[in-house]
Amino acid sequence: MLSAEEFRKYAHQMVDWIADYYQDIEKYPVKSQVAPGEIKAQLPDYAPQKGEDMQDIFADFQKIIMPGMTHWQSPNFYAYFPANASFPSMLGEMLTSALGAQCMIWETSPAAAELEEQVMQWLRDMLGLPSSFSGVIQDTASTATLCALISAREKATNFSVNKIGLSQQRKMRVYCSTETHSSVEKAVKIMGLGKENLVKISVDEQQAIQLSVLENAISADIDAGYLPICVVAALGTTGTLGLDPLNELAELCKARNIWLHVDAAYAGSAFILKEYQHYLKGVEGVDSFVFNPHKWLMTHFDCSAYFVKDVDTLINSFAILPEYLKTATRGKVNDYRDWGVPLGRRFRALKLWFVIRSFGKEGLQKQIRHHIELAHKLAHLIREDDAFVLQIERMNLLAFYCQFSENQEVNNQKNQELMQKLNASGKLYLTHTKLKGQFLIRMVIGQTQVQEHHVVESWRLIKQTAEDLKVGYGA
Ligand SMILES: *Cc1c(COP(=O)(O)O)cnc(C)c1O
Repeated sequence: MLSAEEFRKYAHQMVDWIADYYQDIEKYPVKSQVAPGEIKAQLPDYAPQKGEDMQDIFADFQKIIMPGMTHWQSPNFYAYFPANASFPSMLGEMLTSALGAQCMIWETSPAAAELEEQVMQWLRDMLGLPSSFSGVIQDTASTATLCALISAREKATNFSVNKIGLSQQRKMRVYCSTETHSSVEKAVKIMGLGKENLVKISVDEQQAIQLSVLENAISADIDAGYLPICVVAALGTTGTLGLDPLNELAELCKARNIWLHVDAAYAGSAFILKEYQHYLKGVEGVDSFVFNPHKWLMTHFDCSAYFVKDVDTLINSFAILPEYLKTATRGKVNDYRDWGVPLGRRFRALKLWFVIRSFGKEGLQKQIRHHIELAHKLAHLIREDDAFVLQIERMNLLAFYCQFSENQEVNNQKNQELMQKLNASGKLYLTHTKLKGQFLIRMVIGQTQVQEHHVVESWRLIKQTAEDLKVGYGA
């Protein structure tokens, strides 16, 4: 076992390595360039019989593991959505790791429970959510959405599914748009409703849910004997950051007595800006709301902020009370194990506290505005370029294609090739989406470290690679 003195030595060494890593991060290929199986082939078949030297383990980390890593903290990471880290967040995580506490209930670490309560209030107020909402940190938005749907199910059935199961219930239905994240379908499957009872509603030209189609679907389902339990609104769809009309959805759900859950996993961070809070009009009518500080708010994965209007419904859906968890403080404090799926909980509020205090509300706002401005500048360059078509500019997400050919199929194939060539260069990392059969290169400019020169250089590389492809194909 490592002694405290040895720990001190290696920890200093690794902190130095971490600082160097961040300084040199642009030297690494953003997307890992290894082939399938390449890493595993370098690992021994059996666990070591005897303990090994930390120096050797660390050397293998650098030699074997690092080449198989994709560098999410590179400023040239534009793929998916970012999973932003920051130094304050990392320092918080180091301390969480040092304490190694399991924060399932108040008694197992009162500071963890009370800090979580307070930082979630800070976040709630920063976003302009109603002061009646209570917040809890979940591991992911997928888990939060599962909690929302189960709460909706229990409320709609007077908590009877938890008691007697699904077999004697009316068939339940959940609604969302075709652009809504796959975690909704996963939740519907896990909770036993069956994915055929997730009704996917078509979207309009702005990738927002079509209200009249939704209303008709709900009415038809009620006539056919179904029980509509929940509508999931997307504020910022994964493909294109489409925004559903919250105010109208809230009115509709209120009139029909249906739970309204909001999935703002990515775009939610932008609501700390006044200029984006108008998308939250009607939010008093929402039953639950999730967004991920672990995407765009400079806080390490995992940290998903889940807010509910009626905390009793959440707790009544998830509370358990075996003898060994009975405490004298129950009812006077928040026992967060009753606010979600897992019993055990990491001390995640600490890194969030470090981030919010270190950046300040203004610092966080500045960071998000900076990303949106960078995206806006690049959008301007793409629009000015005859070879490219910019299809989407929303917040800090751009989706575009290069015009190689009039034939959509050929064009799609060449744009895919363009993206793969760019990713294989290791200089940047992009992913794609499809809109009406059109392959779009999707670029999210939101990495903690990204500056204008990264974006300008990336754009130069995109144009150059597209040129090379054209020449190569004699177009
Ligand atoms: C990323 C994302 C999710 C899933 O988030 P996890 O925290 O990884 O579960 C859900 N919805 C939207 C809109 C997302 O962007």
